[in-house]
Amino acid sequence: RSLLSDEVEKAKGAKKTAEPTIFSKIVDKSIPADIIYEDEQCLAFRDVSPQAPVHFLVIPKSPIPGLSDAQDTDLQLLGHLLLTAKRVAEREDLSNGYRLVINNGPDGAQSVYHLHIHILGGRQMSWPPG
Ligand code: IMP
Repeated sequence: RSLLSDEVEKAKGAKKTAEPTIFSKIVDKSIPADIIYEDEQCLAFRDVSPQAPVHFLVIPKSPIPGLSDAQDTDLQLLGHLLLTAKRVAEREDLSNGYRLVINNGPDGAQSVYHLHIHILGGRQMSWPPG
């Protein structure tokens, strides 16, 4: 039995490709998602495999593969994603705190190559993360 979780194994096998990801299909509504916020620039929806009582993702509508692909021209967008994360967290009653995570690349255990911020809350988090 592997020492790595299934999620990490999956992430290690994930490749950055030019193919549209599952998140692009959520953006264009060709597959369903539990969308909890949307505007011209971004979308927030619940993670299909929640790791906390509240676990949602904030993604840009434009398909930046990962944080390491972000450019200076994405400055406003990146700020907007963070402010959206905190506003949706407020709406989800996470006033006692929450955690933001961006997995980047294979060592970061990124599995979907469309930039996304995880927002996790509703339980006490520990440190360090795995
Ligand atoms: P990453 O490991 O940071 O790339 O996270 C990808 C996240 O997307 C994981 O937490 C998955 O559970 C989640 N996910 C994958 N497909 C879907 C979906 O179709 N809807 C909602 N969440 C998804």
